[in-house]
Amino acid sequence: MGEEVKEEINSFKDLGLCDELVEACDGLGWKAPTKIQVEAIPHAVEGKDLIGLAQTGSGKTGAFALPILHALLECHSKQGYKSAPAFFALVLSPTRELAIQIAEQFEALGSGISLKCAVLVGGVDLMQQQIAIGKRPHIIVGTPGRLVDHLTNTKGFSLRMLKYLVLDEADRLLNEDFEKALDDILNVIPRDRHTYLFSATMTKKVKKLQRACLRNPVKIEAASKYSTVDTLKQQYRFIPAKYKDCYLVYILTEMSGCTSMVFTRTCDATRLLSFILRNLNIRAIPISGQMTQDYIHRVGRTARAGRSGVAISLVNQYELEWYLQIEKLIGKKLPEYPAQEEEVLLLLESVTEAKRLSQMKLKEIGGTKKRKGGEEDNEDIGRYLGIKGKSSKKFKKK
Ligand code: AMP
Repeated sequence: MGEEVKEEINSFKDLGLCDELVEACDGLGWKAPTKIQVEAIPHAVEGKDLIGLAQTGSGKTGAFALPILHALLECHSKQGYKSAPAFFALVLSPTRELAIQIAEQFEALGSGISLKCAVLVGGVDLMQQQIAIGKRPHIIVGTPGRLVDHLTNTKGFSLRMLKYLVLDEADRLLNEDFEKALDDILNVIPRDRHTYLFSATMTKKVKKLQRACLRNPVKIEAASKYSTVDTLKQQYRFIPAKYKDCYLVYILTEMSGCTSMVFTRTCDATRLLSFILRNLNIRAIPISGQMTQDYIHRVGRTARAGRSGVAISLVNQYELEWYLQIEKLIGKKLPEYPAQEEEVLLLLESVTEAKRLSQMKLKEIGGTKKRKGGEEDNEDIGRYLGIKGKSSKKFKKK
């Protein structure tokens, strides 16, 4: 799409969206559409398929959610509210965390129109999800494996009337774990539908999927492969491994009042860290996504849609090599996170004690509670999935 169109469009109304959705964006404080929304939505509203090369944080969820909701509302007005079509759209995501975030955005945008959305992801009770399916949601957001599970085993659940399919982070949906499930899903949904495919990279497999699933798609490119948004401040700090927790607590305390995401290397480290932080009265929830992403995906979880954010990499003596690779990948040297070590180490005693207590607690519950991803973690996520309104705000981004 050329510059000409971008210059003309600076409001959601200009994108051709209906008033309810323009109001919903306004209600969320979305003042103007992001680049990818400007490029995608007018085509999608016209009924075109989309293929988008978009980085996380670019506003891509809005880019596919808004046209789907627009179409849903059109059906409402044509058919009357009571016959609002159930199972109207399916969004496939490679991880449950992303699925939750996508569903949150659908729910936020659809809050004024009684939108029903179900999240079907692994690690959460099947029955709870069957109840959600029984409510005949308009939108299903799920991971491929769990969706196939429901399509096979949940009585009365079918996607034969589906109108929209979204393949989000398609490059990651096409890994070996999901390929079979994806095929199974594509075989039971109508061919006559709209399809939006978003991917961070355009691999051979993505191109193959595009040929198989999309009809004359409009191509949108919102970012280069390894770019990060300009509003993201990136820093690093070399630290001795033995002081890592201490530095982290120092930074989180410095940033208190902000929402932070801490990435660790293993599920166990995630659980331990959340216990340590809770011990120090820092509210924390462990989420184990079994993800193997690189740096770009992780830092892209902040500074989304024009807002600012900070990503700090704590690098110990054993991780130096990886850090240098990251600098190569993003093509720049990052500034150092400024902190006086003496000041950081004032926290050492309390952090060490919190760690000792947390390790003891983990040891105590380890035998019975330890499952893939951690039962307690799943409970936390499950509780979150079951709760709407007030509590879900905790998860919203800054
Ligand atoms: P994503 O869709 O993953 O790229 O994330 C975009 C983030 O920015 C989400 O937290 C959205 O709530 C937010 N967002 C999306 N579109 C806009 C917009 N036009 N203006 C401001 N924030 C937005």
